[in-house]
Amino acid sequence: MSRNSSVAEEIASLRAELSAARLAILEMAPTEASRLLIDYASCASKAEAHRWHERTAERIVELTQPKRASEMGDHPLAGDRVNCPLCGRGSDNILGIEGFAYPEGLQRHLTGAFNARHCIVMNAALGLALDTAMHRAQVESSVGENAKRGAQGVKVRRRQI
Ligand SMILES: [Zn+2]
Repeated sequence: MSRNSSVAEEIASLRAELSAARLAILEMAPTEASRLLIDYASCASKAEAHRWHERTAERIVELTQPKRASEMGDHPLAGDRVNCPLCGRGSDNILGIEGFAYPEGLQRHLTGAFNARHCIVMNAALGLALDTAMHRAQVESSVGENAKRGAQGVKVRRRQI
């Protein structure tokens, strides 16, 4: 076995382990919201995976019921807050205020926008969506190559006749 093929096998093995770990993270989030993450496999390209990530984050925000600020340890006149429905976390607030500001804070946590701490569950789902898209692109590219080779093979055979 050449060195290159053993490195390639090790990379493939590590990729498979990473996918399994990402799936385990999704399965450990048994909430209503996490069911929206199941269709990550529908993404056919990297751009589609990122669009799916944004759209799913928006849907999760819409479906989440926020609580009044006073229930989350904030000033009664402050805006609504909510813990992440996927990972259960809130912002690291030194004043002891729970959850994320709703909807913007939760949206930022789910998308990782504005340097917000990206939700570990949502990040795992995005990783799976990107992996699936990359795998599809590789399969389609190899199918395309085989089709080209097949067509060239036909030309060669025709010339021989
Ligand atoms: Zn989260």
